[in-house]
Amino acid sequence: MVAELISVGTEILLGNITNTNARYLAEQCASLGLSCYYQVTVGDNPDRLEGALKQALKRSDVVILTGGLGPTNDDLTKEIAAKVLEKPLAEDLHTRECIETYFKNSMHRVVTENNWKQALVPQGAKVIDNHNGTAPGLIMETRDQKCVILLPGPPNELYPMFEQDIRPYLSSLTKEIIYSRTVKIGGLGESFVATEIKDLLDAQTNPTIAPYAKTGEVHLRVTARARTTEDAKKMIRPVLKELKHRFGINIFATHEEVSMEDKLVSMLQKRGWTITTAESCTGGLLSGRLINVAGASNVIDQCFVTYANAAKHALLGVKNHTLKKHGAVSPQTAREMAKGAAKAAGADVAISVTGIAGPGGGTKEKPVGLVYIGCSVKGYIEVMECHFSGNRSKVREATVARAIDFARRCVIRYSK
Ligand code: ATP
Repeated sequence: MVAELISVGTEILLGNITNTNARYLAEQCASLGLSCYYQVTVGDNPDRLEGALKQALKRSDVVILTGGLGPTNDDLTKEIAAKVLEKPLAEDLHTRECIETYFKNSMHRVVTENNWKQALVPQGAKVIDNHNGTAPGLIMETRDQKCVILLPGPPNELYPMFEQDIRPYLSSLTKEIIYSRTVKIGGLGESFVATEIKDLLDAQTNPTIAPYAKTGEVHLRVTARARTTEDAKKMIRPVLKELKHRFGINIFATHEEVSMEDKLVSMLQKRGWTITTAESCTGGLLSGRLINVAGASNVIDQCFVTYANAAKHALLGVKNHTLKKHGAVSPQTAREMAKGAAKAAGADVAISVTGIAGPGGGTKEKPVGLVYIGCSVKGYIEVMECHFSGNRSKVREATVARAIDFARRCVIRYSK
């Protein structure tokens, strides 16, 4: 089945907003086994939108339009879809009540006259309630078994509607179930991972393998289409086995919902160990990500943000001599930070971070993006040197991801 996305909105065309809806929907379609061959963006122009929808219906089975469902006159998506599919608009009582309730509950305001436009529904359309806004979603089916889905533009309205109603609807169209598992790999680049599995990617049919890159991680989503979940699981099993064989310790999770920090915290919990952090350039981002994990209090008592040299010395016991001779951004300082943090917090594991996040502060010997990460596990200390590119926030985020992954590896290494 072929899906096509039409993003409606002049602000997308002008580059004022990033089209994150298209990215989300494309990913969702892929995970449902729909082939997405076209993505179109049109402004708030009735003729061009009509043209885009007509063209989409010629070449695709499922057309998903987002945006342009608001109450103002330039919100035209529903009107154009009704025109193209030749379905007259009529007021839907249920939607009218939903709009009233929404205004009462969340805005304490009276509905303005133009909001009633949002209660107009094309004849025969299935209405998808919007619990986070006023524009309902709509599913319209054509005489030749195609469907047009209209969803509101704001992502906080679109995502829950897709999850709750559109995803099950699309699954029912394919008469097959789609089952996915995500293999998450830390510390390796996307192109390296893709090269390692080039043969699998080239040969894929069902299950499929789709690589996605995140900061410091690569995800491989393995998706099978089958008659039952059991059949799909059976088809996925050998692929997971092969991926585990190829990537070994680099894999930190094989379930979508498990993050890198979840994994690290659960590994520590299992061992009854505690962890602390000593951060310079990441200034609390690392401890923040770890503390974000539910249950982090079982493994973390305290963490350190030591930005200045004096703080590294006073709180972590980094020697003034080390700072002077090697500098704050050096493997020696990272080592002493990890050692000192473990001692000061009485923790089994300590991760330290010291680097140059930029934009200033870089030299030829120590350029922006140079980061040292130290990890102490039960007194065994390792330091890794990293070179990250990008702006200040990219360097800091990449550092945090690498530090968590490094700690995970060190914990495995020194648990033996
Ligand atoms: P509303 O009922 O809020 O008017 P709408 O369906 O008419 O919703 P738009 O007016 O097109 O949607 O967009 C509203 C907002 O939703 C935009 O300002 C933008 O913040 C967000 N948005 C719209 N389309 C997209 C998109 N493709 N990707 C990301 N965000 C989007």
